[in-house]
Amino acid sequence: MKAIEVHKFGAPEVLEVHEIPTPKPGPGQMLVRIRAAGVNPYDTYMRSGTYPIKPALPYTPGSDAAGTVEAVGQGTKKFKAGDRVYTAKTLTGTYAEYALADESQLYALPDKISFAQGAGLWVPYGTAYTALHHHAMARAGETLLIHGASGGVGTAAVQMARAMGLTVIGTAGTARGMELAKQEGAQYVFDHTKTGYTEEILKVTGGRGIDVVLEMLANVNLATDLRLLATYGRVIVIGNRGEITINPRELMSRRAAVRGFTLWAATEAESTEIHAAIAAGLDNGTLRPIVGKELPLKDAPRAHQDVMAPGAFGKIVLLP
Ligand code: NAP
Repeated sequence: MKAIEVHKFGAPEVLEVHEIPTPKPGPGQMLVRIRAAGVNPYDTYMRSGTYPIKPALPYTPGSDAAGTVEAVGQGTKKFKAGDRVYTAKTLTGTYAEYALADESQLYALPDKISFAQGAGLWVPYGTAYTALHHHAMARAGETLLIHGASGGVGTAAVQMARAMGLTVIGTAGTARGMELAKQEGAQYVFDHTKTGYTEEILKVTGGRGIDVVLEMLANVNLATDLRLLATYGRVIVIGNRGEITINPRELMSRRAAVRGFTLWAATEAESTEIHAAIAAGLDNGTLRPIVGKELPLKDAPRAHQDVMAPGAFGKIVLLP
């Protein structure tokens, strides 16, 4: 099979197409024919060798994908050959024509959800769910700022939060991204590249402040986020690419909190809950993954450049 392999950590060009043996499913495992693989920012951190998790080399990147079950190993019962599935991590990596997975890493993909959309489920929706439910403990009627609402996690959070009854304020850096956030349900949208936009956000709340901020770029925005918070406000750090100075007094005067998490650390119980919520949302139409760009597998280096560039628009997926 064809697979992207990383033989040394480095720039996007280290993502090379290799011809390698197609794996065979052992007991408890299934082989998935990958139809689309989701590209997430952390794939790029891992490839560069700067991520806390460093896979043994060579490795095939990717945790998110959708496709069909090709073959099943002994003792498996969750799916049969031909079933449509999406992945939440795999054993061998998803940037490939086939991936081996424990059956516990596979979930049913409804017929109405395309493979490309299915490749944008686990990390984006799992992260949005964890942030809103497990860390922000967001409640209907609260005001939510999604600071970075045009990308994978942001669009997932917009859809989820609207369905939960929150008032959703989103930001994006392009007119196209702002339009997308609005289309997916954000009641107010601002351009995070324009000076003065945070004052406009405060105006929307009537000066009361934001209850919950989901932050995609904390090293740029955390200090400002604290000044936007209402009493008992919470900032949930989802994305961060550096350091920042904050004034802790902004937290004290508001009885506010900052929390961070990684989806990697989700427990089995949390994962079960996340997949149940995804299944329900896909079924009732509140969750609709947005695919902004489809690229052939060999263009993985370009996909890694694009996912780190400004101008996000839903998900970038690779088609093996
Ligand atoms: P993505 O699809 O590339 O989207 C990035 C988002 O960040 C876009 O909405 C982008 O907006 C926005 N952004 C860019 N500059 C910004 C600024 N100055 N202020 C606010 N937002 C800004 O990435 P993603 O998959 O949504 O992930 C978002 C971040 O969360 C990444 O850093 C990723 O590594 C992280 N993440 C963390 C976890 C976790 O477990 N904690 C899980 C998933 C993702 P424009 O492009 O429109 O400017």
